[in-house]
Amino acid sequence: MSQQTADNIKKIKATLPCGVELVAVSKFHPEEVIKEAYRAGQRIFGESRVQELLAKKDLLPADIEWHFIGHLQTNKVKNIVPFITLIHSGDSERILDEINRCAEKIGRKVRVLLQLHVAEEETKTGFTPEELYEYMSHEKWRTLNHITISGVMGMASFVENEEQIRKEFTEIRAMFDNLKKQYFPNDDGFAICSMGMSHDYRIAVECGSTMVRIGTTIFGEREY
Ligand SMILES: *Cc1c(COP(=O)(O)O)cnc(C)c1O
Repeated sequence: MSQQTADNIKKIKATLPCGVELVAVSKFHPEEVIKEAYRAGQRIFGESRVQELLAKKDLLPADIEWHFIGHLQTNKVKNIVPFITLIHSGDSERILDEINRCAEKIGRKVRVLLQLHVAEEETKTGFTPEELYEYMSHEKWRTLNHITISGVMGMASFVENEEQIRKEFTEIRAMFDNLKKQYFPNDDGFAICSMGMSHDYRIAVECGSTMVRIGTTIFGEREY
């Protein structure tokens, strides 16, 4: 069991091109397996629930880089802002404002990705491309001095059809390129295109992902 986690990480890393980062998604998995991954050299872990993250963080090495990947409620933002390395789920104007407000209070600057909604599923959160262009065009975001917009995050529809998945990842990468060109041309901080999970990360990488978020393939099925 324990060696399995390390082997899975090694296998995935061997297939990732240089420059694509691996976020090990540890949600619903216990500290022991996170430690196994840590011993295998993994330092970036992703969690999607604030309470769970807070409980685990104190039991694990301090040099872990925690990424938040789930939908955030505004009232919980203040709990993760002091230590979080990257928030992938910047999915609304309101949440970006709140992250900025909480970070300002403690004199921190927090890195955030703009979460895009391109998948067909109604349930997925995030800005639609239209909403995001609208948001960026008003340039109010430039006044948010305590967040660093570091790129985009997106998910493809949960379908078998590979062509559809490919089309959606291509759309997310195109948004990333357009935003980069239009708003961040000289900003090296805007560099992350976070897309790809266990079942579709190979396609995501082919479509230009720079950061994959993988849980099941590393840690096995989650028990909810
Ligand atoms: C759970 C989750 C993942 C990882 O999913 P797996 O299929 O287990 O690899 C990736 N991204 C987000 C946003 C998630 O919520």
